[in-house]
Amino acid sequence: MDAEQLREYGHKMVDFIADYYKTIENFPVLSQVEPGYLRNLLPDSAPNQPDSFQHVLDDIQAKILPGVTHWQSPNYFAYYPSNSSVAGFVGEMLSAGLNIVGFSWIASPAATELEMIVLDWLAKMLKLPEDFLSAGRGGGVIQGTASEAVLVVLLAARDKVLRRVGKDALEKLVVYASDQTHSSLQKACQMAGIHPENCRLLKATSSTNYALSPEFLSETISQDLTIGLIPFFLCATVGTTSSTAVDPLLSLGKIAKSNGMWFHVDAAYAGSACVCPEFRHYMDGVEVADSFNMNAHKWFLTNFDCSALWVKDRSALVQALSTNPEYLKNKASQANMVVDYKDWQVPLGRRFRSLKLWMVLRLYGLENLQCYIRNHIKLAKHFENLIAQDPRFEVVTPRIFSLVCFRLLPVRNNESHGNKLNHQLLDAVNSTGSAFISHTVLSGKYILRFAVGAPLTEEKHVNAAWKVLQDKATSLLAESL
Ligand code: PLP
Repeated sequence: MDAEQLREYGHKMVDFIADYYKTIENFPVLSQVEPGYLRNLLPDSAPNQPDSFQHVLDDIQAKILPGVTHWQSPNYFAYYPSNSSVAGFVGEMLSAGLNIVGFSWIASPAATELEMIVLDWLAKMLKLPEDFLSAGRGGGVIQGTASEAVLVVLLAARDKVLRRVGKDALEKLVVYASDQTHSSLQKACQMAGIHPENCRLLKATSSTNYALSPEFLSETISQDLTIGLIPFFLCATVGTTSSTAVDPLLSLGKIAKSNGMWFHVDAAYAGSACVCPEFRHYMDGVEVADSFNMNAHKWFLTNFDCSALWVKDRSALVQALSTNPEYLKNKASQANMVVDYKDWQVPLGRRFRSLKLWMVLRLYGLENLQCYIRNHIKLAKHFENLIAQDPRFEVVTPRIFSLVCFRLLPVRNNESHGNKLNHQLLDAVNSTGSAFISHTVLSGKYILRFAVGAPLTEEKHVNAAWKVLQDKATSLLAESL
């Protein structure tokens, strides 16, 4: 690493990125390239001799950026957001600069200790029960994604129950969640060796606004117990991916506890909103949970990746995931004086992710973060009001946070035509490049999702996207007459 070359390239790259942000609205939000586009633009093999930095930057501009979908564009309303911020960016830069691999405390003491402190800070901002703080038997850890978070707690829960009932019982273990739960749970079950039929994704309907019904859960558990199965894990969601449904944590958690099950709460997207006192009640019941997860990289101004996971009993994670090879032994670990985060996650190596979260919390502060969330929710409400004024559209599920689920109403109540129409509307809007929205299916209906959450989005961008939606709807309806 040549420090002077780093200074030169680093300054140029920061200028490049700053210019990117200044001109981001000139790009189509959803990349319009065709599959395989890049093969034709790049050589077949790497160069033998070094290229110039300027030449590489030119290629990024000409060949890479056309194939980028601009998640930071103010006109991005698809999926859930992936926030970037100046604080998150410089934190990420420092992490890349130090480039440590903090698998154990000794591998870089500051990485472990800062992560513990920052997750305690964030836990306090979310008003998580004290059992989740590192002072007791619990604590927080940064995973790359919510998928990794649910996998590690599932493994911890599986091993805990198997220690009680015997290893041979793996085939009998049952996992419960609603069918609105993120697919990462299903993947985790596959990886944890849970029998495919024992991953119960219970149907959630419009009658509960797509939240899991405690009665349905209770009945299913009772049936499973009768046939000798072993319920051991419940995953509830605060803010489901399709429609931001909020599962009733307290009632569900009580059922889990009375059956000796591990209770995990996935608040990957909506957890961020719960730092605002007026939204904190959506997490009520988290006190009976064993683990809780929120993605700071979604809607909390922290660059990807940064998924915060807290557990009440860190020893359950460690018992499932620890190894102790000779080449990693050291005095602090052997004396049990420290946390070694390698034992709380799947990989050994880990990045210094707490730096960027620490910078976000310090450079913005709780009040600014609350304003940030509230502003997006205000913009989503504004979009909802715009829809309400156009009788051709309907809002499909109640808006809770910053996602609006809506659709263009089918002509002559023809539902299959309605699905086709909305699919066409989605494609028509996204192909303009001026806004990017996504879709889901709820109760057999094709629904459009409008998620406000990009840091640069203002009311004018919401209005512009709505205008594109209305114009494209007008054309489609005219064609379908
Ligand atoms: N859980 C919920 C509720 C989500 O919405 C998502 C992604 O959008 C995930 C989990 C998966 O997140 P990740 O990409 O961090 O694994």
